[in-house]
Amino acid sequence: MEIKTVAVIGAGTMGAGIAQVCAQSGWKTNLFDAYPEGLEKGMKGIDAFWDKGIARGKTTAEQKTEWSSNLHEFTDMKLAVENVDMVIEAVPEIMKLKCSIFESFGHMTKDDCILGTNTSSLSIAKIAEASGKPAQVIGMHFFNPVPIMKLLELVKHENCSELTISAAQIAGEKMGKTTILVNDVPGFATSRLGVVLGNEAIRMLADGVASAKDIDTAMVLGYKHPMGPLALTDLVGLDVRRDILLNLKQSFDDESYTPHPLLEKLVSEGRLGKKSGKGIYDWSSGSAEETELPK
Ligand code: NAD
Repeated sequence: MEIKTVAVIGAGTMGAGIAQVCAQSGWKTNLFDAYPEGLEKGMKGIDAFWDKGIARGKTTAEQKTEWSSNLHEFTDMKLAVENVDMVIEAVPEIMKLKCSIFESFGHMTKDDCILGTNTSSLSIAKIAEASGKPAQVIGMHFFNPVPIMKLLELVKHENCSELTISAAQIAGEKMGKTTILVNDVPGFATSRLGVVLGNEAIRMLADGVASAKDIDTAMVLGYKHPMGPLALTDLVGLDVRRDILLNLKQSFDDESYTPHPLLEKLVSEGRLGKKSGKGIYDWSSGSAEETELPK
């Protein structure tokens, strides 16, 4: 099945990036967010990304015009999803929320619509069941920032059809991604390792092992990671990482996934990382600067 039209649900860090890449892939792309400010922020972010590309000579004004004409904002979810070939959901990592949205997809979308979820850790089978169309549901786990990161982790559950898997693989390739196919185990092949490394780095920071910059530099220069675990946690979003840890803790019934108290404290203070201007680092200058941490 060839994808020509897509709806992206949630215009946050991930949804905006996914919609941008869909529009760049030549697909008519409908972007919906439940909150007007969320939709506006997402659309502005995409526009700014393209403008930066033009300023750097990586994108032409003609390309921007063409991509912009593919992208449409929606304030009504039914209108956004009812006629598209594929829907990709990117709302917060809360099972109840995702299930209620997939239940709506079940009766709002075309019979053969592919239903992707960008969850980082939740059970795809459970989300699929809520839709009433489980064969068409697949995990489509993109990485941040979506226009730059090459990986698309596809997650199949027991009742996922071969047709859905191959449609998602072809769509991923069209988006310029390398796909991997992973079974429906909490945290998949990526998030499980990523959050453990980030949580441990936060514990080391709280224990006074070294400064945030030095912990990050240790992994960048010592282990050749492209970015340190603390800066990456800020980039992903502290709330997102906290939610993933809580989901893994519950799914595996394993206390070792408990979010470190410093992570909880930062989230409760609204220090969510780069997206809120401050997390473990202060991002107000545009790059990561050391800043005081709560006791
Ligand atoms: P975010 O907080 O940046 O964005 C979420 C968006 O969803 C917001 O714009 C919000 O207004 C909107 N929203 C909330 N309720 C909604 C609803 N009922 N209907 C439509 N929109 C709604 O979050 P994010 O970082 O983009 O994460 C979204 C999903 O992507 C999560 O499942 C997360 O685990 C996953 N993910 C995140 C990253 C990352 O690095 N941030 C990476 C991979 C996957």
